[in-house]
Amino acid sequence: MENKEIEIKIGLFGVGGVGKSTITTRFLKNIFIEDYDPTIDDIYIKKNDLNNKKIKFNILDTASQDSSYDPFPNYVRQTNIFVLIYSITDKHSFEVIKNFDKEIKYILDIEDKDYPKVLIGNKSDLTMKREISIEKGKELAKELNCKFIETSAKTGENINQIFYETILLEIELKNQNQKK
Ligand code: GDP
Ligand code: MG
Repeated sequence: MENKEIEIKIGLFGVGGVGKSTITTRFLKNIFIEDYDPTIDDIYIKKNDLNNKKIKFNILDTASQDSSYDPFPNYVRQTNIFVLIYSITDKHSFEVIKNFDKEIKYILDIEDKDYPKVLIGNKSDLTMKREISIEKGKELAKELNCKFIETSAKTGENINQIFYETILLEIELKNQNQKK
């Protein structure tokens, strides 16, 4: 039986306060608590629906306030799958997503080419404070050519979906590279 390990280098990008750290801890604590050892950085899960492939999530919870922050280029270079996060309660966090996209492309030195990413509108539980509609999120995702998910790190809504999406993107990436 094939027992290959898939390692996914996930980078979480977005301005401070959108919920990057909360999403990370929510994912680690709630979903994979059985396999999670807080003293070890690497997280392993085994999933039957992935032919028993072992998946290693390597999550980079960036601490950048914005894309001009110093370690930003290093964060980008360490990442294979990009998770772009804004808060639905913060218009500014939404507007700067395009800047993140531009910066990432610049650092990866790809202009017209695409890179694997997913767009996240977090804090979906704060409906009374919503500043960005679902439609706006979808429109932006279409422009960026990626999937869009609204999440809540507070209730846990769709947090799993983010990471399943990164698995799909990783598999796609692998298949593309094999064709080259
Ligand atoms: P980061 O700077 O992007 O890492 O943001 P944090 O994870 O530190 O979150 C900033 C604040 O937003 C914290 O007070 C979190 O508790 C809160 N927060 C994060 N995600 C959610 C969410 O989905 N819903 C609500 N209501 N609050 C959230
Ligand atoms: Mg943080």
